[in-house]
Amino acid sequence: MSRKEFVAALYQHYQRYKEPHFTHRRFKQADILPLITALSAEKGFTIELLGTSTEKRPIYHLQLGKGATQVLLWSQMHGDEPTATMALFDIFRFFSTSDELDPYRQVILENLSLHFVPMLNPDGAEVFKRRTALNIDMNRDALQLVNPESRLLKNLRDRLKADFGFNLHDQSTRYSVHYTPFPATISVLAPAYNASKEVNPVRERAMCLIAAINEDLQTLIPHQVAKYSDEFEPRAFGDNMQKWGTSTILLESGGYPNDPEKMFVRQLNFIAILSALYAIAQKEYEKYTVEQYYAIPDNRTQMRHLILRKVLLEQEGISYRTDIAFELREHTCSDGRSVYYQAVVDDIGDLSTLYGYQEIDCSSFQVSFGKVYPQEVYHLAQARKLDFSQLMAQGYTALRYKGQDWQEEYVPKDIPFNLLRGNHTRTEDVVSIDKNPDLVLSQEGKVKYLIINGFVHQPEKLTQLGNGLVR
Ligand SMILES: [Zn+2]
Repeated sequence: MSRKEFVAALYQHYQRYKEPHFTHRRFKQADILPLITALSAEKGFTIELLGTSTEKRPIYHLQLGKGATQVLLWSQMHGDEPTATMALFDIFRFFSTSDELDPYRQVILENLSLHFVPMLNPDGAEVFKRRTALNIDMNRDALQLVNPESRLLKNLRDRLKADFGFNLHDQSTRYSVHYTPFPATISVLAPAYNASKEVNPVRERAMCLIAAINEDLQTLIPHQVAKYSDEFEPRAFGDNMQKWGTSTILLESGGYPNDPEKMFVRQLNFIAILSALYAIAQKEYEKYTVEQYYAIPDNRTQMRHLILRKVLLEQEGISYRTDIAFELREHTCSDGRSVYYQAVVDDIGDLSTLYGYQEIDCSSFQVSFGKVYPQEVYHLAQARKLDFSQLMAQGYTALRYKGQDWQEEYVPKDIPFNLLRGNHTRTEDVVSIDKNPDLVLSQEGKVKYLIINGFVHQPEKLTQLGNGLVR
């Protein structure tokens, strides 16, 4: 029985504990309330109504365990940062299950009292925005406590005199591990409690615990953990929790290749938090050092969705080779839950310090702009009958759509093209910042790749990864 074996078992048996209710990131409080109600019937769980949000949504405190060490975990104080909320419900399922990992459960629940506040900002989550209903960033409200949600968190901390705090967030997928091609899939921080970034025993405990978490995560995602700048932010919760005497760790869920809904990153949260709880229960963090914490690489923002290297462009009357980075902007679909993407050119030039989740070396390709298929399409069913592979092989990236059976701004995933409405007859045919050109990459006259709304397609290998746009 060791933490290492615990981590391996949690990874291997995750499907047992995964809360099946969550399949995408834009869930609302109405999705988690029935899960909380169901937990109130589970042995060992105590559920307390802490209070309500500005828009009168209830905020619950779930308690587990009888130990002397008080651990407070809260998620989603930023409404559009839900990854850890899903992981907390996985953790609740873990504790309401009985199996060969019972000895670990026992160690945690006998030594710790666990206090969870999942989805601290339900009003923000309702519309998938960062701020609260008062349009205040809760993480700059730890001193003024204007938001009712901020007061609930502060009062709970003071009542428990929490020994440890877990401040659970999401970060942009642009974060990288220093200047390396590795995304910062998880970022960590033991926030400073003063401007001179001193280390007292409270902060030291947080740093050592993070060193333990980093060791655990390295076995699952080598090189993909980074640490945040510890610049003191006098208004933030993490910094003030540390000042108030709670050893606080920040965990940020970042990007992972081909995981747009962050389901693998959620699994990593589940494992990292549980193994951290075990490390606290066994006081294993005492075996780690502040130096190990400082040795975790800093995070930078070098990751981009797609980078095309050494593209031969002819613009402004000259031809030149350069790199092009595409980023994706996320938009919420009209159902309020699913997502569509809009690509933009984010950078052009020598991008040797940036890294793509996907990269294509274009040094042997001719590059041209995508063509519009001349035949008009009157409904989506008609579009679906087209031979997309053949059209792609001819360099087409857009269809002229005259139908009325689709009112959204994005194209259903099974049609890999852009749709042009009305009098639009051309795709964007300039490579420039914030533009979204369709590009065709060919070799000896043969189309190899097409970039359609920032997603990479191949004529002979159709995928349904991205979405086109309706213009
Ligand atoms: Zn956040």
